[in-house]
Amino acid sequence: MTQTSVKRIVIVGGGTAGWMTAAMLAKHFRKTDIALTLIDSSEIGTVGVGEATIPTLRRFYAELGMNDLDVMRACQATCKLGIEFRDWYQQGSQFIHPFGLYGQKANGIDFHHYWMYLREQGEAGSLDEYSLGVQLAKQHKFIQPSPKPPSELSVFDWALHFDAALFARLMRGYALENGVIHVDQKIERVDVAGDQSVSALKLQNGAIVTADLFVDCSGFSGLLIEQAQHTGYEDWSQWLKCDRAVAVQSVREGEAAPYTVSQAHRAGWQWKIPLQHRQGNGHVYCSKHVSDDEAAATLTNHIDGELMTDLRAFQFVAGRRKKAWNKNVVAVGLAAGFLEPLESTSIALVETAIEKIRRVFRGPFYTEKQVQEFNDLTAQEYERVRDFIILHYKLNQRGDSDFWRECQMMDIPDTLSRKLDAFKERGDLIRYPIEIFGPPSWLAIYSGFHCLPERFDERVKKMDPAYLQKALGDMRRSVANAVASVPGHDEFITENCAAAAP
Ligand SMILES: Cc1cc2nc3c(=O)[nH]c(=O)nc-3n(C[C@H](O)[C@H](O)[C@H](O)COP(=O)(O)OP(=O)(O)OC[C@H]3O[C@@H](n4cnc5c(N)ncnc54)[C@H](O)[C@@H]3O)c2cc1C
Repeated sequence: MTQTSVKRIVIVGGGTAGWMTAAMLAKHFRKTDIALTLIDSSEIGTVGVGEATIPTLRRFYAELGMNDLDVMRACQATCKLGIEFRDWYQQGSQFIHPFGLYGQKANGIDFHHYWMYLREQGEAGSLDEYSLGVQLAKQHKFIQPSPKPPSELSVFDWALHFDAALFARLMRGYALENGVIHVDQKIERVDVAGDQSVSALKLQNGAIVTADLFVDCSGFSGLLIEQAQHTGYEDWSQWLKCDRAVAVQSVREGEAAPYTVSQAHRAGWQWKIPLQHRQGNGHVYCSKHVSDDEAAATLTNHIDGELMTDLRAFQFVAGRRKKAWNKNVVAVGLAAGFLEPLESTSIALVETAIEKIRRVFRGPFYTEKQVQEFNDLTAQEYERVRDFIILHYKLNQRGDSDFWRECQMMDIPDTLSRKLDAFKERGDLIRYPIEIFGPPSWLAIYSGFHCLPERFDERVKKMDPAYLQKALGDMRRSVANAVASVPGHDEFITENCAAAAP
């Protein structure tokens, strides 16, 4: 088997993806003689959005030896217990997708089967009453979860809302301290050899840069992987119809909610992300159904605080690069693909890409077989996230615009159909390998969209309804009591991780 030796790696791009890659690879290759260089261009700049994350990010920076409170202080961050979806199911509807569990599994049977049985028998309350994450979020409370939770009822997780530029700066600091060389130069030309591998980069100052491996973190342009190598792109816009976004920062009014708000509009949705020093806002929309001007007006009409920046516009096509790793180029971040930020997954996909690169480099070389495996896993990861996002659109019952009707009526990928059918028919929460979102997340979306199974696990009927009523009542009280003693989210931030004024 041919091994390609690697002594010099060049990362192209200094956005969130580039600096996260540089930081983690600097740690990974610390005791080797592999040289890492990052080239970016302050003339071009970065996308500069990407402020909501999922809990995996906390594991990522923990590996670099950083702790939650320090990162929060450095990045003007607030806590994120989940996402509140407003007007998605129908206008006026609301639900929260928490990072956490619902109820307690018993006898190997998932909790929601017991809950459904009890609903038939009597008073079971709402599923939300069994989720500590949802209850904390609703009451704007926050506490760091116990590392040893006393029961499943106290299991929840959390992520961060942060200033993306400050986070990139943090990663940059770590990378530079750990030996990464930074070159601020525009790349003017990418040379490709006959076998499609990248042979050299020509910089604006005339320098020629070569490497054994290039990590393309150049953003949407895919400078190496697409513009130079013409790798190709798998277009998923038949399912994910939004193709534009407009974003703006505003003064934050009132308390910082410990969750992202995703509010559906006529042909898309708007995010609200509270940070310590401001609020991030954006409207993701489908240009077939709404003009840029109308989308911008919808966004600004739904922001309470004063605007702090000009509006920024983005265009994209949902999908992924056909091969994330092509010859001697690995694409990470927006260069590898894009899925709208509905579930804050882009940075998480950066993390998983970096993790896979690390797994390849247990020695200073890679093989064709490893490249193939990298590409297969990446494709699956993107497809799983894609399906989860499509689910939100497919289950809508709004019916008030062509956009939402089209989403409701669209055919969906087979992988998603199988999952949806298994849940609708018998309440099964299927988990495929390589999935970022586990069964509790899928349950949150099904139940938020009032999609409940026709049948539940028959074995729960063996349980005495009176006993079940008491057990579930106890669970609801236990969650409510736990929440009662928790401080407010703002209070948590002030006492533990308040950032200095910018
Ligand atoms: C509207 C929107 C909202 C988003 N919201 C979220 C969110 O809430 N959560 C989340 O996880 N993700 C979100 N994302 C995605 C997130 O912003 C990106 O995944 C993340 O910022 C990584 O971007 P990047 O580093 O790949 O690209 P970029 O930030 O675009 O960086 C590209 C880099 O390449 C350099 N470069 C490009 N061309 C050249 C050249 N010729 N020479 C030298 N350097 C060059 C640039 O200078 C820059 O440093 C969002 C994206 C968009 C568009």
